[in-house]
Amino acid sequence: MKLQDKVQTIKGVGEKKSALLKNLKVETIDDLLHLYPRKYEDRREVISIMEAPFGKDVLVKGVVTSKQMWSRNNKKVPLKIAIQDNSAKLEVLFFNGKFLSNLFVVGNEYTFYGKINLNNGKRQMSHPEFHRTGDPDDVRGIFPVYPLTEGLTQSYMRKLQMAVLDLADESEEWIDDEIVKKYNLCSPAYALKKIHFPEDERQIKESRYRMVFEELLTLQTGLFYIKEGIREINKGVYVDENISVQDFISRLPYQLTDGQNRVWGEIQRDLAKPTPMNRLVQGDVGSGKTVVAELAMYKTVKAEYQAAMMAPTELLAKQHYASLKRDFEPLGVTVDLLCSSMKAKEKREVLERLANGQTQILVGTHAIIQPDVIFSKLGLVITDEQHRFGVDQRTLLADKGTNPNILVMTATPIPRTLAVILYGDLDISIIDTMPPGRKPIKTHLRNEDARTAIYNFVQAQVKEGRQAYVVAPLIEESETLDVRSAAELYEELTAQYPDVRIGLVHGAMKQEEKDSVMEAFVEGKIDVLVSTVVIEVGIDVSNATVMVIENCERFGLAQLHQLRGRVGRGRHQSHCILVCGHESKIANMRNEIMCKSEDGFVIAEEDLKLRGPGEIFGTRQHGLPELNISDLVKHVDILEDVKAVAAEILRKDPQLKETSNVVLRQRVKKMFGENIQLRL
Ligand code: ADP
Ligand code: MG
Repeated sequence: MKLQDKVQTIKGVGEKKSALLKNLKVETIDDLLHLYPRKYEDRREVISIMEAPFGKDVLVKGVVTSKQMWSRNNKKVPLKIAIQDNSAKLEVLFFNGKFLSNLFVVGNEYTFYGKINLNNGKRQMSHPEFHRTGDPDDVRGIFPVYPLTEGLTQSYMRKLQMAVLDLADESEEWIDDEIVKKYNLCSPAYALKKIHFPEDERQIKESRYRMVFEELLTLQTGLFYIKEGIREINKGVYVDENISVQDFISRLPYQLTDGQNRVWGEIQRDLAKPTPMNRLVQGDVGSGKTVVAELAMYKTVKAEYQAAMMAPTELLAKQHYASLKRDFEPLGVTVDLLCSSMKAKEKREVLERLANGQTQILVGTHAIIQPDVIFSKLGLVITDEQHRFGVDQRTLLADKGTNPNILVMTATPIPRTLAVILYGDLDISIIDTMPPGRKPIKTHLRNEDARTAIYNFVQAQVKEGRQAYVVAPLIEESETLDVRSAAELYEELTAQYPDVRIGLVHGAMKQEEKDSVMEAFVEGKIDVLVSTVVIEVGIDVSNATVMVIENCERFGLAQLHQLRGRVGRGRHQSHCILVCGHESKIANMRNEIMCKSEDGFVIAEEDLKLRGPGEIFGTRQHGLPELNISDLVKHVDILEDVKAVAAEILRKDPQLKETSNVVLRQRVKKMFGENIQLRL
């Protein structure tokens, strides 16, 4: 047998088992060895039957005092064995245990691993793993627990691993000596053996560290490689450094913040480079990303290219359109809007203007990546609220030009190290300052008893001329989920506060209906907007000072933070009131963090810890390969180290062509597969 052999070469693995193993992505012996345990069972300490806790896996030892088959006419005959140590008696049961009967001899001692339960005052253990005490393959030790698929058992997997374990010795060191020394990595052969059958905690730690290091090194090298590759091949759109946008800046009613200025500087430098820009701008809700995007668009337009901006919702696209028109029309720049809800004739006209170059800036929803949308000279593409789009959509938009500059904006802040991974192919800018003069939002946590007081407060704010948002999680009334619906809430509030103008928006409404309600709110014709989460992204009403979030425990932290960011945009004191319907630990933690912090980065980091990156970002959407053993949050320190290592490897050997990098190159190829084009 060799590492590269198919699993069928292992004795006892036929077509059926190999098909099952394939479900676990195991085809070769090497794959099998790289199927790591999910966790381990510690079966080193035998405890006395008397002291063994109930309902937990324990290891006990005892002498068989009697064995007995239950007589039934059934073929499946249960076997009952009485055992005893010097503390207590235990009854061991095997349903369907006929064939096991001969394995037990009265008077001999056996070791059992399983759960003890109390049944009619008797201690019982049902079908435990067992062995004659002192047997070579005793049930004692640290046992690996593998991911399974239906039809495979832990003991089968362990036997398989045992059968091929010696082949681990064939796997050679492939990481450079210096790196091995510097990071104190154990050898791959040792790691492979000990990760399956460790003798103690230290071996688990050493072997897992090596495997995480390997995996992250492969991931990071691949991502860096892709990023560099994109840069190398493409000659991008060139925007002359000397083009001035001072006329735009001096028209702004405010000064740019330090953060905006710095990020704008980074963008300008990118624009003037011969290679295309690929930049992510992270900035908390309300940090003023739009104006930075506008500057980039203006400069691009002045260089005689077109710019396009894609937003995830029609509402947001329209709001952007309105502000772009306001800001650009006085400067003689033509802005157009494209959404799917537009009339065919309108659309046709926009498409025409776009194709002949009349339109200089196009704003829209997904409509702008449709095949019939053709630009005459696209130089800059911007996606707002990137977390709503997949990589594919970003690429589709960019493909409408010849290597245009790409700017991606997001209000979902993520820790920098993680951003490097998740947006591996992007450079990152952060707007870390807020426009001045904003009062911090006061966040209050209340339970449902306080509802009357809360809405009386909303009413009082409205009397002072302010506006408010009320967010409910679902549209339909659902008793089982105990969630207050937006519609129900709307009815209730309308009846209770006849003097307040209340509007309702939810996801099931027609686009035009939604838009007209939203517009009325923006224009101040509605005081209180009751809604589902449709308002989550982007809208900007500075007169709104209250955000009430019902059933806040149903929202993720990042989402709550986004919602809160809808208020606190004007000069009046704003409030975010979290109404908690259900107590739960996580909900409490979230709420605590929400009440303590206004910093999106702190919140995002906490959210990541609570939910893990997969749930938040959906690795698939980001084109990130699946990871076997690493956890981007837990292993962030290793990730930092690995980043430096990968960068150094690629600096010395940008194409991974040297023999010393053969294995790494194979691994990168295997990890990224068809997902991402690699010129390897
Ligand atoms: P976001 O980053 O959430 O997209 P916006 O770009 O919508 O934020 O900006 C939020 C509000 O802040 C807008 O009303 C915008 O006009 C205003 N704004 C942006 N930059 C500044 C600044 N430097 N000083 C004052 N107000 C600003
Ligand atoms: Mg925005």
